[in-house]
Amino acid sequence: MTKYNFYAGPAILPKEVMAEASKSALELGDTGLSILEMSHRSKEVAAVMDEAQASVYELLGISADDYDVLFLQGGASSQFFMTAMNFLGQDEVAGYVDTGAWSTKAFKEASKFGNASIIASSKDTNYNYIPKGYAIDEASKYLHLTSNNTIFGTQFQSFPDTKVPFICDMSSEIFSRKLDMSKFGVIYAGAQKNLGPAGVTLVIMNKEFAAKTAREVPTMLDYQTHVKKDSAFNTPPVFPIYVSMLTMRWIKKHGGVEAMQAKNEQKAGLLYGEIDRNPLFHGTAAKEDRSMMNVCFLLHDETLTDGFLSACADANCIGVKGHRSVGGFRASIYNAMPEAGVQKLVDVMKQFESANA
Ligand SMILES: *Cc1c(COP(=O)(O)O)cnc(C)c1O
Repeated sequence: MTKYNFYAGPAILPKEVMAEASKSALELGDTGLSILEMSHRSKEVAAVMDEAQASVYELLGISADDYDVLFLQGGASSQFFMTAMNFLGQDEVAGYVDTGAWSTKAFKEASKFGNASIIASSKDTNYNYIPKGYAIDEASKYLHLTSNNTIFGTQFQSFPDTKVPFICDMSSEIFSRKLDMSKFGVIYAGAQKNLGPAGVTLVIMNKEFAAKTAREVPTMLDYQTHVKKDSAFNTPPVFPIYVSMLTMRWIKKHGGVEAMQAKNEQKAGLLYGEIDRNPLFHGTAAKEDRSMMNVCFLLHDETLTDGFLSACADANCIGVKGHRSVGGFRASIYNAMPEAGVQKLVDVMKQFESANA
């Protein structure tokens, strides 16, 4: 039975990826060994790590001369403090744009290491838009952004015009659209939204930016430790990296990031189109800031909320319940969500309209 998985994370992965991963959990190629039991020093696993790294460069159109690509543990949440610990000196200034729960957490951690300040926030309206037109201190070490706000369904459509490099949490949108990479000092993304299973975090660092470290830090929390050892200083999370590598192979096979973006625009257009057309529903995010990945919407008559969720479940659309801080519904339509899944959800909305007319 096909269930369409609209959960925000851990989230849907391409079926082909899960099929291949299942096979390799039993035996990787014809090695006679499961990938789960293989040494991270074996040539097979080294090849997986190499392909994973090379795929990141290829998909983002960046070069190994300019960027380091790391696969770390501790989730995106550890990057909240690790970025500041490594890059924000006690007397240095960093700006944080507060666009929701994840940015707030990142800011809170950074405040422990240096002079972090929230330079713009959309908290006043429960984070339903992306702030614009704020002043940026050009002397800042970096500007921290959460480019896609998984909980509130907003997304930066354009990025601030400044020379200050960005440290950007792209957990819920990595590889979903083409971006100008030159603005980013560091990008990090927990895999479990749009890339792979939980357990690995992708970190991409501009070498010039990353060279300016702020202090001495414990070995495991020092990015350069992992740069020097190609993410294998200690035992890396081989299986999550392997599955992420398969997902990137899948993205490449299906036309790369630009093709993902075209598909994502189409899917998001379909769903937002129905939210705007259907008199029972309304979207929560400001239209110009709507996320292509996490679509948040409500019923005008909230007493019907449970009824709509059962209708979704009956149609095998699962994970549509909204986050408690927004309520209503959230459909996460990451790269791996087929258009048929979005169409299915739209059909449920139409039927619900007829049933409740
Ligand atoms: C899920 C999420 C996180 C937290 O990720 P973990 O890997 O669980 O720490 C951080 N930022 C964003 C934008 C997220 O969507």
